[in-house]
Amino acid sequence: MVLLDGKKTSNVIKDEIAVEVQKMKDQGERVPHLAAVLVGVDGASLTYVGSKVRACERVGFESTLIQMPDTTSEEELLQKIKELNESKVIDGFIVQLPLPKQIDEQNVLNAVNPSKDVDGFHPENFGRMALDMESFIPATPFGILQLLERYQVETKGKHTVVIGRSHIVGRPMSILMSQKGPAGNSTVTLTHSHTKNLSEITKQADIIIVALGVPEFLTADMVKEGVVIVDVGISRVPDASKPRGYAIKGDVEFEGVSEKASFITPVPGGVGPMTIAMLLKNTLIARERQLS
Ligand code: NAD
Repeated sequence: MVLLDGKKTSNVIKDEIAVEVQKMKDQGERVPHLAAVLVGVDGASLTYVGSKVRACERVGFESTLIQMPDTTSEEELLQKIKELNESKVIDGFIVQLPLPKQIDEQNVLNAVNPSKDVDGFHPENFGRMALDMESFIPATPFGILQLLERYQVETKGKHTVVIGRSHIVGRPMSILMSQKGPAGNSTVTLTHSHTKNLSEITKQADIIIVALGVPEFLTADMVKEGVVIVDVGISRVPDASKPRGYAIKGDVEFEGVSEKASFITPVPGGVGPMTIAMLLKNTLIARERQLS
């Protein structure tokens, strides 16, 4: 079994990005600048945004964290997005999800200038991605493709089963794995909460990408020998033995499944760090597109 080490791979990618940033500096160019908008004080969101900002420092990017109270109205947030869209110094920005109830998430994502949409959530980018055109690939699917590619996992002609059809992971993943390309050319089955006999389907899979948010959902009896496992899930499970009182669990019962798997991502240290690295990569791409 080979561990698909997202921590190590993401560090390699960050080093590659840092080299490009240094070249920009050497040429007297402005370095990439990522902004993150955080509305409210959700603990997990604050952790994610904090990691993203720290990652910017690591590669030499400029970063700006914009914190807005959880009473922020949709109009106020849209105004902030307008400012970021028009800014001459912000190359890309993200709005951390989830947003408070009074704000319509889709209205907000639709307001982001597609050329600064480094999360790849704008319908224009999603459509362009689905059509194999230049776009921003959402960071988590982009990270998974990179992991598969860099570990030379064979995807061509393989049966990939994706569990979960979210707009940010499952759905784009199912499209990307079926497209032409290094980590593509796969035959894809997209499964979700209405899928019947899921085990029968997963047992036929060469590759399983699990993104549903149910800790240890996928167990050893649901997979065949030699399967490739990508575990996207991140759940906080109460655990009194941990200093913070919780443990981070993926959607895969790692101990059992890893005994059958040929490749598997750990949680933490798998898809999570790759997501952050690919957000930086998208920001670099946004800056490079401005320069070209
Ligand atoms: P989501 O929470 O929006 O949706 C869950 C999906 O799972 C739905 O499409 C639903 O149909 C499907 N589902 C639910 N129960 C099911 C069942 N019994 N059988 C089959 N499918 C079922 O999904 P999301 O936003 O993609 O998040 C999924 C998990 O991935 C969460 O734990 C989230 O925290 C994590 N996540 C991690 C990263 C990362 O960087 N590692 C990024 C995004 C999301």
